[in-house]
Amino acid sequence: MDEREVRIAHTEALFRDVNERIAESAERFNARDAEFVCECADPTCAERVPATLDQYEEVRADGTHFLLAPDHELPELERVVKRPHKRSVVVEKFNAVVARTVRRLDPRADAV
Ligand SMILES: [Zn+2]
Repeated sequence: MDEREVRIAHTEALFRDVNERIAESAERFNARDAEFVCECADPTCAERVPATLDQYEEVRADGTHFLLAPDHELPELERVVKRPHKRSVVVEKFNAVVARTVRRLDPRADAV
């Protein structure tokens, strides 16, 4: 029954891992911003989402927050909590299964 939610959470967590590497290399080059990948549930999504590294760090501070292109959110699983840019939105997972799964897969969870 929860299979779809778990699959969605895994897809989004995978995009998050990609963005962690984008943020790392941007930092290495002393960039202030970067083009991140959209962290939505569509595995074929190739949308780029611009954000400053500060904005990105703010998203990552909460394990249930994700950076998406506008209108890529799934209203039954996540709600928009912030619109840092006209080409980006920050969503929060309110679906319990998705939230639990993305928290478990959070690469920063151990760092706390
Ligand atoms: Zn997307």
